Amino acid sequence: MTTHEKRYVIIGNGIAGTTAAETLRKLDPNCSIHLITNEPYPLYNRVSLPRFLQGVLPEQKVMMRDFAWHEQRRISLLTETLVTEVNTDERIVVTERGQHFPYDALLIASGGWAKPLQVPGAAGTKHIYNFVTLDDTKTIIARILESRTALAYGGSFISYELCDGFAMRKLETTWLMRGPYWLRNCLDPEGGEIVDAIARRFGVNVIHGDEIAEVVARDGVPAYVKTKQGREIQADIIGVGLGITLNTAFLKGTPIEVRTGVVVNEYLETNVPHVYAAGDVAEFYDPTIGRHHTMGTWDNALAHGRIAAINMAGGHEPYVDVPTYTSPLFDVNIAVIGTAESNNPELESISLREPGEKGHENYRKLFLRENRLVGAIMIGSPKGRRKLVELIKNQQLLASPTEREAVLALK
Ligand SMILES: Cc1cc2nc3c(=O)[nH]c(=O)nc-3n(C[C@H](O)[C@H](O)[C@H](O)COP(=O)(O)OP(=O)(O)OC[C@H]3O[C@@H](n4cnc5c(N)ncnc54)[C@H](O)[C@@H]3O)c2cc1C
Repeated sequence: MTTHEKRYVIIGNGIAGTTAAETLRKLDPNCSIHLITNEPYPLYNRVSLPRFLQGVLPEQKVMMRDFAWHEQRRISLLTETLVTEVNTDERIVVTERGQHFPYDALLIASGGWAKPLQVPGAAGTKHIYNFVTLDDTKTIIARILESRTALAYGGSFISYELCDGFAMRKLETTWLMRGPYWLRNCLDPEGGEIVDAIARRFGVNVIHGDEIAEVVARDGVPAYVKTKQGREIQADIIGVGLGITLNTAFLKGTPIEVRTGVVVNEYLETNVPHVYAAGDVAEFYDPTIGRHHTMGTWDNALAHGRIAAINMAGGHEPYVDVPTYTSPLFDVNIAVIGTAESNNPELESISLREPGEKGHENYRKLFLRENRLVGAIMIGSPKGRRKLVELIKNQQLLASPTEREAVLALK
């Protein structure tokens, strides 16, 4: 039995880790909380980084917490501190500098880091950037200001955010992706066509079905890229959005189960007692679809942080939610709700395409499993989004074509 004050250690101070720290302090005024991050900043809003990149939001508006906020709550925030090891037998977290942090309960909220561009000519060439952190964003902005041409590479959310940022900053922008259309795991050719039309209206040169074969540099900076299909694309700056690798390396050698992410049940507990995971890094059991999955969205990470803290402090609350990713897509909106997976054979889908505002089209796709709505994707008008979330939550039966058509047309 623990006789001392309870010791909590949290790896990662993103929205999941910081929310957990805040919740733990509210639940237990006497506990000790160590919140550890390799980044130099207190919590900032990653979702705001694209608007900072575009120049429509100042840096101060990106910051969400300061050091004083942590001091007032007696949350010991350790910045620029990389966790390298976890010892679950002795319940100790070890950092790169050799510090040891004993814990009674541990939260892994370490998110993911972007995959780098690995093609000939990329290593050692400057101005090839990922886009995940505040520091990435500052460096990209500095380079944009001295650039004329830009290449956004990849079919992910991050690649379109980069593309959007380059185009808004008036660079001659090419968007290159290997797949047949953007977000190939959620969209279909029609949805892809709509996204292309939006990007092209902003002057972006969109290229599908091709990939970078080589970066050709002059004096250590990119001159152009050669593609596998033989194109040569000029780029003073290259932004890379090829997905993320979840940060689990420091768990190597522990008995904690890791697949794509850290495997947890609906209470966000790992297979090892007193160890929890939350946010992007958690591969969590989702009762609404009856299986484990990861979810890289802000709302999911925030809700995970709260639930994990409640359970670390002795509660027993399951995580049941319908996560929603909403974001501007150039001058329209996109929302991905619940489970939206085009390549999942267990899911059926139906879609609707109709004229929308500002000369764009609205596109909506619903995903069903065993005649129940499990997810949706909306491009353009967000009207009806809340009702769709409710339908997913309530697991309402939608067996007949008429019922499904009515949901597709919900406003
Ligand atoms: C540019 C961009 C735009 C986005 N836009 C949207 C959007 O519009 N809508 C939406 O819903 N979501 C969006 N997301 C995704 C959303 O930001 C994430 O889902 C969310 O921030 C994840 O939070 P987290 O706390 O789980 O992890 P993170 O925010 O990734 O925090 C994890 C922290 O842990 C640190 N860390 C990792 N390993 C270690 C270690 N070994 N030692 C110490 N520290 C470590 C990391 O450096 C990081 O600081 C966007 C993401 C990006 C990058």
